[in-house]
Amino acid sequence: MPQLPIYLDNNAATRCDPRVVEAMLPFFTEAYGNAGSRHHAYGWKAAEAVDEARQLVADSIGADAKEIVFTSGATESNNLALKGAAVMYRRQGNHLVTVQTEHHAVLDPCRRLQREGYEVSFLPVDRFGRVTAEQVGAAITDKTILVSVMAANNEIGTLQPIAEIGRVCKVRKVLLHTDATQAVGKIPIDVEALQVDLLSLSGHKMYGPKGVGALFVRRRNPHVRLEPLLDGGGHERGLRSGTLPVPLVVGLGEACKLCGNEMPEEAKRCRALRDRLWQGLNENREGLFLNGHPEERLPGNLNVSFAQVRGEALLMALKNIAVSSGSACTSASVEPSYVLRALGVPDDLAHSSIRFGVGRFTTAEEIEFAIKEVTQTVQRLRLMSPDFQMTLNQ
Ligand SMILES: *Cc1c(COP(=O)(O)O)cnc(C)c1O
Repeated sequence: MPQLPIYLDNNAATRCDPRVVEAMLPFFTEAYGNAGSRHHAYGWKAAEAVDEARQLVADSIGADAKEIVFTSGATESNNLALKGAAVMYRRQGNHLVTVQTEHHAVLDPCRRLQREGYEVSFLPVDRFGRVTAEQVGAAITDKTILVSVMAANNEIGTLQPIAEIGRVCKVRKVLLHTDATQAVGKIPIDVEALQVDLLSLSGHKMYGPKGVGALFVRRRNPHVRLEPLLDGGGHERGLRSGTLPVPLVVGLGEACKLCGNEMPEEAKRCRALRDRLWQGLNENREGLFLNGHPEERLPGNLNVSFAQVRGEALLMALKNIAVSSGSACTSASVEPSYVLRALGVPDDLAHSSIRFGVGRFTTAEEIEFAIKEVTQTVQRLRLMSPDFQMTLNQ
């Protein structure tokens, strides 16, 4: 019997890998120096660990160590990329392009910029959640300074065609930012191949600690400049003042290293478990709908709508499985997910969607348990549902 509740919410947060915790521990205890202290061994030791971690993070996305800025997470990275570029390049234009299905940490900074006089185009997506490079190209004007498109969606797992969008942005000489928080460590990401200029990632979505992330800021072809959000000691080349949280930074580096080493096998394993979950849920059953793209999606993500079941009731009834409906950040609200809405999913189905996130620590046994648990629960709720009674009587 697996330990309950079974954790299938890896798109909201992943367990910090025990090997990552191990790597971090000395920097909470004996190696407690400030990485900015230049005149003693405590500082040198911390600075050395930060350098190593910076290299590991850079390697994981094909960047140079000098192009990595440590932040408190992807929310901060996105804010720094969007607001930092918008303010820095204000004289060149006031227009940004993004997508309706982006994370709140992209949409909300964009909305703030709108209130401050910028113009933002929020591109619609197709029924799988994809935008095309042509759409992006058509939205770019001579006032456009930045395009921001996520690499992989946190709710439905859909991958965006970043390399194609990168080519368009390069030709049009517009900066490209990608929120790659869900993608880094799960699928190959290379800032050169994708031609992105800014990229956000976060520790706790890739088996690292919470409270640390990074922003890749391109230094060559072109050299991207940003207005910092925080002023202070001038850390991180002036882009992000504040004493570095050395243990967290070390943890992020280790997490990147492990993901890099284990990605091919892990992706295959997660994909197989995810596919088994989808197949198992579908056995002899009707009224299940896959949300997102059938192929172009994250290996561990499965987003399903169950016809004739109330999503809230389903979540409440699924006590033995830790999953979420819609995005975790808005799961307290009863509004259907804006992401599913953007896909054109009807309201009743959007309300009854469950996001399953398979991860590094998910076992085959847990997946079999989840299939049984969800199947029985859905059956029970459908029998109680007035909609279902009606279809029976028809
Ligand atoms: C989780 C997530 C974020 C926010 O990351 P934090 O590190 O928690 O701030 C941003 N974008 C995407 C796509 C995410 O999945």
